[in-house]
Amino acid sequence: MSTAAALPSGIDSLSHRERERERGQDIAPLLQVDNVSLEYRTPERVVRATHRVSFDVHAADRFVLLGPSGCGKSTLLKAVGGFIPPVEGEIRLDGQRVTHPDPDRIVVFQEFDQLPPWKTVKQNVMFPLLASRTLGKKEAAERALHYLDKVGLAKFADVHPHQLSGGMKQRVAIARALAMQPRVLLMDEPFAALDALTRRKMQQELLELWDEVRFTLLFVTHSIEEALVVGNRVALLSPHPGRMRAEVNSHGFSLASHGGAEFQSTAQRIHDMLFEEEPEAVAVP
Ligand code: ADP
Ligand code: MG
Repeated sequence: MSTAAALPSGIDSLSHRERERERGQDIAPLLQVDNVSLEYRTPERVVRATHRVSFDVHAADRFVLLGPSGCGKSTLLKAVGGFIPPVEGEIRLDGQRVTHPDPDRIVVFQEFDQLPPWKTVKQNVMFPLLASRTLGKKEAAERALHYLDKVGLAKFADVHPHQLSGGMKQRVAIARALAMQPRVLLMDEPFAALDALTRRKMQQELLELWDEVRFTLLFVTHSIEEALVVGNRVALLSPHPGRMRAEVNSHGFSLASHGGAEFQSTAQRIHDMLFEEEPEAVAVP
């Protein structure tokens, strides 16, 4: 990668990580996205959403895909979910190729209307447990209450979604996903439609929840700040079609470091990398 030499500390070039992998220093990753290209085909044309994207997610990682709108983040997440097959490359979970959706990968979306309104909060959380025959009714109810308690909503178990704020609805969606105890929790800009204060609160709560449950998270956002706060590793994707630019170790950042000088300078460096010219687009004399 042409920018490798200029990368500041904490930002690994892909070639460096690949060398590490070749030396066998990495323990087996939980999720491998290996040279994955994704396309949408319509009768008129083919849209390439991502081009040869590779990354590894380890157990208990909070791995963030960061890139501008339209760079293929949602498409990548849908492919990991098993909804879109790669036209090139492979996605593996525990070494097994992902070919279809499965409760071992659950998605939380941005929209607040992902909860059927005719079910109570508890019934919403129980539903996938029952539908997938993961648990019987009694156990499903117990597990639903357990995770509703974790997101601070045990008291709201018997109300309907329309009685909840946007942030509370997202907490229910998170509880519902975690109740399935997926191998990887997939989140597609889950806080993007919330006001700024609620958004920060939700980021904080997500980190607290992670501290407690230690789930593996693949989180998509176009916000550099959110990526640094939520992630321990951040993959930078180029504008459309998405390619891997670099990976940033964001382990040291939290909401508390948000306004600090190091946070700001890292955010600025990421901004510059995200929007620099594609190497291919630079005219070579
Ligand atoms: P992001 O989530 O990063 O904003 P998306 O994954 O939604 O990006 O989209 C990536 C590219 O694929 C965009 O150029 C978008 O216009 C295109 N795209 C997304 N969904 C479809 C679709 N159903 N049909 C055709 N093109 C699509
Ligand atoms: Mg998207």
